[in-house]
Amino acid sequence: MDLKDHIRGIPDFPKPGILFYDISTLLRHGSAWRTAMARLAEALRPHKPDLLAGIESRGFLVAAPLALELGLGFVMLRKPRKLPGLTIGLNYALEYGTDRIEMQADAVPKGSRVVVLDDLLATGGTMAAGISLLRQAGAEVPCAATLIELTFLGGRSRIDVPFESLVSYD
Ligand code: AMP
Repeated sequence: MDLKDHIRGIPDFPKPGILFYDISTLLRHGSAWRTAMARLAEALRPHKPDLLAGIESRGFLVAAPLALELGLGFVMLRKPRKLPGLTIGLNYALEYGTDRIEMQADAVPKGSRVVVLDDLLATGGTMAAGISLLRQAGAEVPCAATLIELTFLGGRSRIDVPFESLVSYD
């Protein structure tokens, strides 16, 4: 099955000049979504994760079912001020301005192997921030993965761990 048949590019969203890769058509196609999760599970298995982390919000849609498939727990990396209790966070640069992700300070055991997931890798800034935050929390990050990779943006060069993706556009 070619997963690209189930991903559509929507021009000029959320702003002019951006081609937005919409995974809602993949999510709503039961067997294509199942195939995507099964392929990603196989790609992650050799990295022997103890836990999976998903980046809000579409990263949650990827990480939560994969965690069930692999029999692992799932940790949320969230937008600011969403998580209760003691949190740690990291500010990171966007093309224009900055953003921040947070996680609960006690979310990962020290030294545990946590794989980070999102729907798409563009410039790699979001994923690099996720990896740094997990390390700050004491985790080891053996691998990062997304459904989609925009290879022409070179985001992979900002990721200092093995990186897996199912579909790429160049
Ligand atoms: P970046 O930090 O540049 O790698 O951007 C990745 C994050 O932004 C991911 O959480 C994506 O969901 C979102 N994103 C960036 N570019 C696109 C795009 N062209 N289509 C869909 N989502 C995107």
